[in-house]
Order: sequence, then structure tokens, then C-alpha cells
Amino acid sequence: MDTSFVLPLTGWYEKNRRALPWRETKDPYRIWLSEIMLQQTRVEAVKAYYTRFLATLPTIADLAAADEETILKLWEGLGYYSRVRNMQKAAQYVMTHYSGVLPADYDALLALPGIGAYTAGAIASFAFDLPYAAVDGNVLRVMSRIAGDMRDIALDATKKAWKQYMETTLLTRSNAAVLNQALMELGACVCLPVGTPKCDLCPAADCCIACKQQLQHMFPVKSGKKPRKIEHLHVFFILCGNKIAIRKRGDKGLLASLWEFPNCSASVNPRQALSALGIVPSAITPLSPQKHIFTHVEWHMNCFFVTARQKDADDALLWVSPEELHARYALPSAFRPMAQEAERHMEDSGQIESKI
Ligand code: SF4
Repeated sequence: MDTSFVLPLTGWYEKNRRALPWRETKDPYRIWLSEIMLQQTRVEAVKAYYTRFLATLPTIADLAAADEETILKLWEGLGYYSRVRNMQKAAQYVMTHYSGVLPADYDALLALPGIGAYTAGAIASFAFDLPYAAVDGNVLRVMSRIAGDMRDIALDATKKAWKQYMETTLLTRSNAAVLNQALMELGACVCLPVGTPKCDLCPAADCCIACKQQLQHMFPVKSGKKPRKIEHLHVFFILCGNKIAIRKRGDKGLLASLWEFPNCSASVNPRQALSALGIVPSAITPLSPQKHIFTHVEWHMNCFFVTARQKDADDALLWVSPEELHARYALPSAFRPMAQEAERHMEDSGQIESKI
């Protein structure tokens, strides 16, 4: 592989990098937080979450001591809530074993909950200038194209091979932070995953086999994913007086231990499902059906606005006011469109004025 792209690439990055709040710091906590938030989430969406999270929990000690509802609320809408739960576990470990300071040691970082090879490499290089690679999808795409490499990037073996190559051939203590970020930035802004990469703007074009052969679309090679499982659900927005029913999900699996609107399989009759919850409805109004896509599952939801006569029901239900729901309980994104439509329905019908 022709490695003469390294200097032009780092020079290009210094001139062209986007100004992002987590790039203005060497604070390992802030870098760690940004990297965890950026997994599965767009840069633009992360900015506001990042700022709000740090305003509430500015240090590892604050994160370690926060109550669960606070951290989930700060994460509300970002999804993949295990990310922030693991961050808190790691913060507590760091408080106990490292006096509240993230260790400047790749293997010690890798041993913390929720920190994998990518995140450990990012923290080690960005915060501590250690020559470890942070190999994400952007980096794999860029490296595959420059090298004309046909290995399947969905395979762990390919990721490991690129990581090892970068750490033995490209990265040094003096360039690790900038080169890792430059490769990511090139993948995000120039060497795009869909459409045509902007090779005419690329500082690595002179070394790039895919570009020279006009075969950019052939790289990277990535084997297909399994199709998602589709689950059909009935979901109930149940209002009794001015209280709304929510409940906590089980502590295992999808959206573990998060709050949700009561729901059941769509194979069950909705009235029977409500009866099983101890709900006596005075009116059931269909809302718009909703679809939510998770990594491996799709939920197709039939949504209902239920006005209940009584709520002496199932102990598993918690009855909260719209203000409490808004201020205190983290509601996964899957339920937000339904909650917003139910809010409009309440306002239209004069049942309540508060915002959810
Ligand atoms: S020259 Fe084109 S294909 Fe090659 S790394 Fe640059 S943008 Fe990607």
C-alpha cells in the first residue's frame, strides 16, 4: 500500500476539519462521552445532547453518582440506552480504581464496561496521543479504497488486520490523534459511503487504487446483514383523569428497564389486552400506526388512545401526569410519534393542555 497519503491527509484535516465541540478538548471524559454518543447517531444530532449532558454531569464523579432516571433522561431519544448505563458503570469503576481519572492505557480502557477496541483506540489516541487505531466504518471504507482491498469489512478478521496494519505502519505518538481523526473526517465528508466519493477534493487521491481504476463503487466489500425480524404490536396511550399509564420494561433484551406505554402482541384482541391490565375503557380511539426500526428488529405498531374509567389496575402500571412524563421519565424514541399524536388528541378534545 502506498502510504504517502499520510502527510497530505493530516494537512488537509488541519485546514478542513469541522469545528465540533469534542474536538476542542483533550479531556478524556469529554472525548469518551462524544465517542459513545456518536455510535449509531449523527454528528448534528449529538451536539445538543453532548452539551446538555456535560452541563448536568460535568465530571466522571458526577456521572458515577447520578441516579438512573437522570442519565436515561439525558440520553432520551439517542437510543441504545445500554451505552449510557455502561458509561456509568465504567465511571463508577474509574472512581474506585483510578481516582476518577481515565487511565492513559489502551488495555485498561478496553477493560472498562462499554469500551470496545474502537472507543479505546479513540480515547487513547485523541486524549493521550497513544499510537492506537480507532477503526470504524468510515476508516474501513477509506482504507479499503486507497489500498484497493477486497477483504470483507463486515468480518472481525478484516477489522483486526487493518487495526494492526495502522498501528504498526501508519500511527506514531506524534500523528495518532490527528491521523485517526483525519481518516474519519475524510470518510464522513469526502470518501462518502453512498453516491460518488469526492475524489477531486481528496488529499489521498494520488495513492488511491479505487480512484485510479475508477472502481470506487467496488469498495469496500461488505457482506449482507440478516433481514430484520418484524414484530406487530398494539400500543396503548391510556389516560385516566389527568394521568397517563406507563410501565417499566423487563431488565433483559431490547430497551431493557426503560419506560414504555403498555403494549402487547397484535395477535391479542386489544380489548382483552386492556382487560388483562385491569383497564375499563370508556373510549378507544385509533391513532396513526407507527413503525420503528431497531438494529435487528422492526416494530409495526397499531396505536390506540384509550380513555379509562378507572385505574385500579395492574401494579406494574405507573400513573403519571403529562408534566411528570415530560420532566422525569425517559421514553424511547419508538413511542415519541405516538405520544405527540396523543398530545394533539388531548388538546383537540380539551382533555388536557400540558405538553408531553
Ligand atoms: S480518492 Fe476517492 S475513493 Fe480514494 S480515498 Fe479519496 S475520496 Fe475515497
